[in-house]
Amino acid sequence: TRKRFVAGNWKMNTTLAEAKALGAAVAKGVPSDSPVAVAVCPPFPWLLPVGEAIKGSAVALGAQDVHSEKKGAFTGEVSPAMLIECGCKYVIIGHSERRHILGESDSAINQKLHTALDEGLHVILCMGETLAERDRSLQERVFQRQVYAACAGLTDEQFGRLIIAYEPVWAIGTGKVATPEQAQEAHAFVRGKLRQLYGEKIADALPIIYGGSVTPDNTAGLMNQPDVDGALVGGASLKADSFLAIVKAA
Ligand code: 13P
Repeated sequence: TRKRFVAGNWKMNTTLAEAKALGAAVAKGVPSDSPVAVAVCPPFPWLLPVGEAIKGSAVALGAQDVHSEKKGAFTGEVSPAMLIECGCKYVIIGHSERRHILGESDSAINQKLHTALDEGLHVILCMGETLAERDRSLQERVFQRQVYAACAGLTDEQFGRLIIAYEPVWAIGTGKVATPEQAQEAHAFVRGKLRQLYGEKIADALPIIYGGSVTPDNTAGLMNQPDVDGALVGGASLKADSFLAIVKAA
């Protein structure tokens, strides 16, 4: 009953020409009656041209990050209102590359969620454990902390615009995809936490998607799991044919 969702996170890749061509090819390949909701998340400077390239299609636009304040003296930052004006429906918040390379904290992520949701965006919240954490069997403690911290204070209506992406850090860009069982175990734990904290209705409706070395070949196995509702795709989203094959398999 939860709608499938597949998003491409292009990260810091593509030239302008590549981005426009990729957007157009993805838009062309997703049917207007697609049972899977699809989004592409290009780098900030390509939002407007990619938005133009996917205009009128079933593909939505998303950004890869956003600032936690609505406006003001924050040199280099981008506000939720700016993203909306560029045509974004979605924004990714708390990606592991931002947590681990750029030092984003759980509380900063919570502030970003609040501002982005207050301003009307849909949020793809990323979470997941590092290899060191999994090696010490700490992943469930990490999930609990990340979900609890990120979602603190959200309203029921805002939960309706939230998607959680489980992205084990050891699976991102490594070719080491989580097994369907590992993904299911994590997603079920997160959904159980959501149920405990926010109730059955929110927990059952909230899409939890998987990210980390998703390819056309491993998509169906992951999607067959009851709590895996879609995919957040990095590397394989940079080629239209592989991204469309993932959408098809989802
Ligand atoms: P890869 O698909 O390249 O492993 O990246 C996953 C990811 O980080 C998506 O946000």
